[in-house]
Amino acid sequence: MIATEKVLEGLTQPAWDVARVREEFPVLRQTVNNRPLVYLDNAASSQVPQVVIERGSRYLQEEHSNIHRGVHYLSQRATTAYEGAREKVRRFINARESRECLFVRGCTEGINLVMHGYGRKFVGAGDEIVVSAMEHHANIVPWQMLCEEKGARLRVIPMNDAGELLLDEYEALLNERTKLVAVMHVSNALGTINPIKEMTSRAHKQGIPLLVDGAQGAPHLPIDVQDLDCDFYVISGHKMFAPTGSGVVYGKAEWLERMNPFLGGGDMIRTVTFEKTTYAGLPNKFEAGTPAIASQIGLGAAIDFLNGIDREAAHAYEQELLAYATEKLSAIEGVRLIGTAREKTGVLAFVIDEIHPHDVGTILDQEGIAIRAGHHCAQPVMKRMNVPATARASFAFYNTKAEADALVNAVQKVIEVFS
Ligand code: PMP
Repeated sequence: MIATEKVLEGLTQPAWDVARVREEFPVLRQTVNNRPLVYLDNAASSQVPQVVIERGSRYLQEEHSNIHRGVHYLSQRATTAYEGAREKVRRFINARESRECLFVRGCTEGINLVMHGYGRKFVGAGDEIVVSAMEHHANIVPWQMLCEEKGARLRVIPMNDAGELLLDEYEALLNERTKLVAVMHVSNALGTINPIKEMTSRAHKQGIPLLVDGAQGAPHLPIDVQDLDCDFYVISGHKMFAPTGSGVVYGKAEWLERMNPFLGGGDMIRTVTFEKTTYAGLPNKFEAGTPAIASQIGLGAAIDFLNGIDREAAHAYEQELLAYATEKLSAIEGVRLIGTAREKTGVLAFVIDEIHPHDVGTILDQEGIAIRAGHHCAQPVMKRMNVPATARASFAFYNTKAEADALVNAVQKVIEVFS
């Protein structure tokens, strides 16, 4: 467990040992532009711990082989590792069965899988799909494509100026034509944590299934899909300390069984003739072709890593760090925060009067600080907040207060350069 015990007024509270956890992430040891790297772009991709790197290279050195179809030793080892990773995912998100956990390359592919598998089968002319005003393009564009194809309509849950969804307006949007609600757990552009359990319950009251884009949820929050009661939960591994190319679609078996496959090909069939193909059972029906075996095994190792740390202490630490950086940054004259929801995690987005976020990002890079500048694949959020783009610092449990200070000092420097 990477947490030490701190005795506070007779109470024993876990404290997060950030120096120790940083040792697990080799990439953080480097310098950029002669400064220690300050990595604050975790919402785009988080870094990978040594144990995950080692697991991936052990697969390549000792186990590399194609899964499922082989009768030989290596194929069986690769299959065991791959299916073992699926069981780790199941436990991590508390799914009922591992066949409800489909491996995909990430959230984009996952949402497209649900669009093709569920949407093209169950959505027709005049039906409606409800998304929120803060969605990432990955949870807008596939639904728009579906609406165009089917003559269906996209409805949008509005948000307030702080970046919080308006739940009464959400409920008012739901009706007998609504075929799906697709909403993000945590906003990549604003940091808002959405009340998924409440939203699911309101959708279910009207018999409407709900999909969660969990890209930014899984790295920060405990995920219990049975407690959330969502119908789909989609994850990108590279945002939760695993390699790129790994990801998950959780779907309730009763939906997945009724859905059409997404991709057709090898490994997803039961029988093929030129007249007709019958499909394999779950999860294979949704995993055509050779998957990203090494990456998904890496995702399993990342989950082992997360199970080995005190996640509650990690989350408390992240929240403290976000509050610290928020207070310091917002005290700078000319800085305006974009995204001030009461329930937030991970993300600190801001604009500076008269200075383009790309200039902020470029100057910070010269200081060795990695942030992201732009629309963060959420152009409707930029429009709603009336900004062309933002600068975004995003945190993980390996970031430090000294790094938050470096960010704040560098932003001050940017303002001096432009004044
Ligand atoms: N949804 C959200 C909220 C995201 O932050 C991202 C990645 N920026 C995605 C979806 C898409 O994830 P991926 O690029 O891994 O498919």
